[in-house]
Amino acid sequence: MELLDIKELDITGKKVFIRCDFNVPMDEFSNITDDRRIRSALTTINYCLDQDCSVILASHLGRPKGEYNEKYSLKPVARRLHTLLHREIIMADDVIGEDAKTKAQKLKNGEILLLENLRFEAGETKNDENFAKELASLAEFYINDAFGVSHRAHASVEGITKYFDDNHKAAGFLLEKEINFFGKLVNNPVRPFVAIVGGSKVSGKLEALINLLPKVDKILIGGGMAFTFLKQLGYNIGASLVEDDLLGEAQHIMDRAKELGVKFYLPVDIVVAEKFAEDAVSKIVPAQEIPDNWMGLDIGPATTRLYREALTDAQTVLWNGPMGVYEMERFARGSSKLANVVADSYATTVVGGGDTADLVQRVGVDDEMTFISTGGGASLELLEGKILPGVKPLMKQV
Ligand code: AMP
Repeated sequence: MELLDIKELDITGKKVFIRCDFNVPMDEFSNITDDRRIRSALTTINYCLDQDCSVILASHLGRPKGEYNEKYSLKPVARRLHTLLHREIIMADDVIGEDAKTKAQKLKNGEILLLENLRFEAGETKNDENFAKELASLAEFYINDAFGVSHRAHASVEGITKYFDDNHKAAGFLLEKEINFFGKLVNNPVRPFVAIVGGSKVSGKLEALINLLPKVDKILIGGGMAFTFLKQLGYNIGASLVEDDLLGEAQHIMDRAKELGVKFYLPVDIVVAEKFAEDAVSKIVPAQEIPDNWMGLDIGPATTRLYREALTDAQTVLWNGPMGVYEMERFARGSSKLANVVADSYATTVVGGGDTADLVQRVGVDDEMTFISTGGGASLELLEGKILPGVKPLMKQV
């Protein structure tokens, strides 16, 4: 798949709209706790500034419900951009309102305008045509560098592309890097290829699991999603997270793994707690012995050892989703031990998903991973072999 290349566009001195993914985690004081996504966008922004462009940046942040909400303002992002770029960032008070339009119109070469959170407008997630048109009217060129949302047909990702011909739109450097990396991973993985899949729900990753099965040699399951599989196997799972409506699907995945000769691993011991809290009473039990009313919040030490064994011969490791409730220190041990195992391996290691990226950073092994993707959902959809709605309009016609 070849993408429209930003370097082939004649953008010198022009007004460029860059869709970025500045959806960064923040603490309760609106301090950005991980700015990887902002730093990842700098290559494209700097390239445009070097071409003497006037640059309009747009992103979403969190899930405001289609209206202004100070909590989700991009102002903290503007401050971080200023720190990283050492340039003034002009902040618009709205997205396509008077303020944004006036500031976009007056924007001079070398200046940067950041629009307010795209999701302050209901039209963004609805892929509304008028909203997309209004956004498009702000600039002469469109660049998508927001890999993390390219699996969503939203106005700033998909709808907007209709208003630019192939000489006026392209993929940014980050988008291109992610797409090329996952392309190689799917089509040509060095084997054994091991997928570690965790996180809270089976539902979010069901299709990815089914589509990953023919591509991988082993799957290691952890996190809340393990309990739907364990329940289907007839284990008592106490008060652990479960998706009862997906028990049949869980069976289907296990059957399919068997048919394909994929080694399918589930936790053999669990850290269980009396309640979902940092100060809860907790203990380690075999997966067969989860007490009634207790909930499984992490994988146990035997599982970590088992997974370490399973990973010893891996040549490619893909990890999406934590092994437990890693946000609480007490239930983070399984995830952090596994992070160290993955970091120490000689395999090509790929981490996808905001939570997993956050986790490896907390553990301090982020620099030891081969590739940390800025998009969890998007990377899974790529691995499923899908063409992402935000990427399709940026493919070269052959
Ligand atoms: P996801 O967004 O599906 O990747 O899920 C990530 C979330 O799963 C994290 O916030 C974890 O706290 C949560 N999680 C992991 N393991 C469990 C578990 N055993 N029970 C409940 N939540 C979990």
